[in-house]
Amino acid sequence: MVSVEEAESIILGNLFTPKIIAIEIEQAEGRVLAENVTADRDFPPFNRVAMDGIAINFQSFMFGQRSFIVEGIQAAGMPQQKLQQENNAIEVMTGAMLPEGADTVIRYEDIDIENGSAKILIDTVEPNQNIHPQAQDCKKGEKLLSTGFKISPAEIALLASVGKSQIHVFQFPKTAIISTGDELVDVNEQPHPWQIRRSNAYALQAAFKQINHHADQFHVFDNEESLTRELKKIFESYELIILSGGVSKGKYDFVPRTLEQLNVKKLFHQVSQKPGKPLWFGRSESHTVFALPGNPVSTYMCYYRFIKPWLERSLGLVSEKNVAILAKDFQFKPTLTYFLQVKTTNEHGKLMAYPNAGGGSGDFANLKDVTGFLELPAHQSEFKAGEIFPFYSFRI
Ligand code: AMP
Ligand code: MG
Repeated sequence: MVSVEEAESIILGNLFTPKIIAIEIEQAEGRVLAENVTADRDFPPFNRVAMDGIAINFQSFMFGQRSFIVEGIQAAGMPQQKLQQENNAIEVMTGAMLPEGADTVIRYEDIDIENGSAKILIDTVEPNQNIHPQAQDCKKGEKLLSTGFKISPAEIALLASVGKSQIHVFQFPKTAIISTGDELVDVNEQPHPWQIRRSNAYALQAAFKQINHHADQFHVFDNEESLTRELKKIFESYELIILSGGVSKGKYDFVPRTLEQLNVKKLFHQVSQKPGKPLWFGRSESHTVFALPGNPVSTYMCYYRFIKPWLERSLGLVSEKNVAILAKDFQFKPTLTYFLQVKTTNEHGKLMAYPNAGGGSGDFANLKDVTGFLELPAHQSEFKAGEIFPFYSFRI
């Protein structure tokens, strides 16, 4: 049996090396960038008019001129116009190139235009006002984004601006989620009184979906032969294997034995934690295997505490560890790390975690009432309101 800290360090010491793939920009949100991206032009690429109004040469204003003949219009999307007379004006629209010869923009709100002449109604005008100067935000050739960056909608805008319709990102490992158990039937079946519908694989599949990853589902019965046969087949096409159920001490818990027979080296079995004690982790040359206990709360918690960080770290992401403040005193005596289900609320910028332990690792109905798990350390049994602990949220 290993501690949670040992389990984590073994897992994070056995990352997988992702391949790189090119995907369409529409699919890139949430993925991890596998290339550096530079600006192909200045940002902005020209002196950009930032207000609708008129463009003038500031000198004219400075020398007291308040009335300007309007020579023409410079709209967004038009090639650059030129001020023919330096004491005239050109009407300009937001997003247009600043006309040659002009250096100051005065908004429509501050002028009156009548019969082709613009009268300035304000006393204070600053040179270069209402202009977004070329290259102010970023110069051509400058690095905009680095490999390992998680792409959010903000980065999508940058990628689109530099003309990247295809983006190199790290590829997720091909993932199979395999539930095991003779008592389990599929979601659209009517269970006999001794059966239940399987839910773990669906929950895990949805959890992967939260991070834009697709995993395929399988089910295997508690039979050593079929487990071996099915796993062999699955191993041919998948790199990350997640099993649920069959890793405990029951007569029909064949998973650990079968995995080792298939040359998956056990790196640990059993973690001093509650829930999720029977967790098994191992590796072969081309496979990483997490075998999770079948109790739904354990399965769920092990994913967020161990699999998700493994996957993110493998893709080059170092996510900040979240913490939350225990909002009510709590007791847990055994020397096990306890993953306490909590409902969090943000109170004046502080994330407060209210215990709602539920009825144990089989009580997955309780998950609907909570936000995540607070990790309470093994060598403490009294947990006081106000103490801060690591927090694993499953709601995003
Ligand atoms: P096991 O880890 O196989 O001993 O299973 C522990 C408990 O979790 C048993 O009550 C199982 O019926 C239940 N269980 C196992 N797999 C699933 C699943 N995929 N969906 C729902 N419950 C499950
Ligand atoms: Mg079972």
